[in-house]
Amino acid sequence: MGERRGLVLVVEDEPAIADLQRLYLAREGFGVQLETDGRAGLAAARSQHPVAIVLDVGLPTLDGTEVCRALRAEGNWTPVLFVTARDDEVDRVLGLELGGDDYITKPFSPRELVARVKSVLRRANGPGDRAVLTVGAVALDPDRRSVVADGAEVALTATEFDLLASLMRRPGRVFAREQLLSEVWGYAAAAGTRTVDVHVAQLRAKLGAASPIRTVRGVGYAVDAPRG
Ligand code: CA
Repeated sequence: MGERRGLVLVVEDEPAIADLQRLYLAREGFGVQLETDGRAGLAAARSQHPVAIVLDVGLPTLDGTEVCRALRAEGNWTPVLFVTARDDEVDRVLGLELGGDDYITKPFSPRELVARVKSVLRRANGPGDRAVLTVGAVALDPDRRSVVADGAEVALTATEFDLLASLMRRPGRVFAREQLLSEVWGYAAAAGTRTVDVHVAQLRAKLGAASPIRTVRGVGYAVDAPRG
């Protein structure tokens, strides 16, 4: 099984292009949710917490630039890779007002698309992505994929490790279950959020008293730095 990379939302109204995008992103380990018009794309961006959005500019109901503008106005900075039909759209979609992260012009090769999606994700995650993360008595090393709690190495499954890493990367931030499903499993929320609860319970059992994971009732989970 390949590495799981999270859920990508593709908003594209041309079926042949959408199928190709889905195929190649899925082959790289991304979960893919496809929407074919702007309004549905905006709703999915809000509810499914994708790790990145591949957003066609020319769409029915709401065009891609309007979808992006609405998200940015809400403080939603999910990386957006715009798909443009013409080069003269480029300045507009990458402008400060819209905050697009990158663009690709039709026709493009699927390989190029995948490379661009990975690149916007790398930039969004920042250079500190490989640094060792420490919260309280738990230290997580992304390069070695190892976790130490209270001085002892803890054996975690790949999923447990990815889940803990997602939480520890942003201490204090509250994650909805849907967001964790998207980031760690690459699923849309329809897949069921109980999976998240089960894996959090397993993580807590393995980390014992050192577990920094807090349940946020009715929402999801957060990791908190101990009070000094
Ligand atoms: Ca289009």
